[in-house]
Amino acid sequence: MLIFSAFVPHSPILIPEVGKENLEKLKKTAEAYKNLESDLYSLKPDLLIIISSHANKRGGEFFTINQQPMLKVSFKDFGDLITNLEFENDIGFGYKIKESCEDHLPIILTADSQLDYGSGVPLFYLAQHLPQLKIISIGYADLSLNQHLNFGQIIRKQINLSAKRIAVVASGDLSHKLHQDSPAGFSPMAQEFDRQLLKLVNEKNIDALVNMDKDLIMEAGECGLRSLITLLGIIKEIDYQPQQLSYEAPFGIGYLVENFRVS
Ligand SMILES: [Zn+2]
Repeated sequence: MLIFSAFVPHSPILIPEVGKENLEKLKKTAEAYKNLESDLYSLKPDLLIIISSHANKRGGEFFTINQQPMLKVSFKDFGDLITNLEFENDIGFGYKIKESCEDHLPIILTADSQLDYGSGVPLFYLAQHLPQLKIISIGYADLSLNQHLNFGQIIRKQINLSAKRIAVVASGDLSHKLHQDSPAGFSPMAQEFDRQLLKLVNEKNIDALVNMDKDLIMEAGECGLRSLITLLGIIKEIDYQPQQLSYEAPFGIGYLVENFRVS
């Protein structure tokens, strides 16, 4: 059964050993993450499905499910040699999702022991105090938004068949081009993209999100939309309540923390 769902950003600056004094600039996001954590903790999850923009390390027109038995989180690529976490993978559940996609959507199994930072940042904030929690790591695809919505619906069927208490977290950032000094460059369309996305999420207008203007999406330089749409595919048929916990963009990249309450 589904007990929790949320959308979160994944800037490595959120990790204290990486961000150091810059973490102060993401204070609202870090606070929102803590708020989410206490919610998740009290709901006693058995399993957390994490959908990350950067879990599919090869890219391509297929979804990925990681089948490595133990999943490690570190941020050594960002100069942090201290932070290390490890989680057990729910291989059986991951395999069921893969099987139920067959004939519908392209999906492959991978075996990466090191999780991507897009999965690592949310797990650092949300899962450290849940030692029994199992993880499933999912990567999205170079496929249409509609196919991501369908993928979410397939995952939901497996969640509904399970007696486990399941949380779903979609990880991604919004536009990377919001300010003149954004690392990815500036686009005048970027703010419009974030504004529309926040509005449609709040209005629960999934159809309009799936049909957002393709040029606007391209211009925005986002990485979170397909994670978000997959999550919305999972909760679409449920009477969920969107609750925006924070939105900020101190480095010209849009960071949204949204709790999609399902219980
Ligand atoms: Zn990203």
